[in-house]
This record gives sequence, structure tokens and C-alpha cells, in this order.
Amino acid sequence: MKQPEKIKIRGNVYKILYNPIDGFEGLITYDERLITISNEISSERARVALGHEIIHAVMYEYDFTGVEMQEELIAGTLWNLLHVVYVSNPEVKGFVFGKP
Ligand SMILES: [Zn+2]
Repeated sequence: MKQPEKIKIRGNVYKILYNPIDGFEGLITYDERLITISNEISSERARVALGHEIIHAVMYEYDFTGVEMQEELIAGTLWNLLHVVYVSNPEVKGFVFGKP
């Protein structure tokens, strides 16, 4: 599947770049609305890294900040939630979100 180059969150467009990053698989810069994903990791790792950064962006755009140390735990938990509904149980997704 093609790597996405942007994502719209609450009306704001985040640009997604795939570049080398020292020591990280993904980074987000809120004031530039920029997500950078390492291009030196597997596509599977890149998928997870992008999902993780998108959750950070959603938390930011919906004012879910100020939790500091908890933020990584919450981002990880939300990603696991999405994975459970969208990947492991797609039949539940349609029911919960009201679309087939
Ligand atoms: Zn994170």
C-alpha cells in the first residue's frame, strides 16, 4: 500500500515525510504540523510508527495534552485499541461505527 503523504485532523493537514531520523522511528512537530517517519525501518514498523504519531496528533488537535509522562502510555493504549477494532475484529468496527 502506498505510504500516505498527509492526513487531515480536525480540519488541519499534517504533512508526512519519510526521512532518516536519528534514534527514533517517528517524530511529530506540532507547530509545523509535520510527521516524520524513518525511511530506514521496515514497512511494518513504519505503519506502527505512523499510527503512533497520528494518535499524538489527534491528542494534540483535540486538546488532550498536559498529561506529560502518561502521554506515551496513552498513545500506546489508543493504538492498541485501534488495532483491536480495525485489524483483529473488523466485524466489530462496522457495528461500533455504524458502517459496514
Ligand atoms: Zn510517542
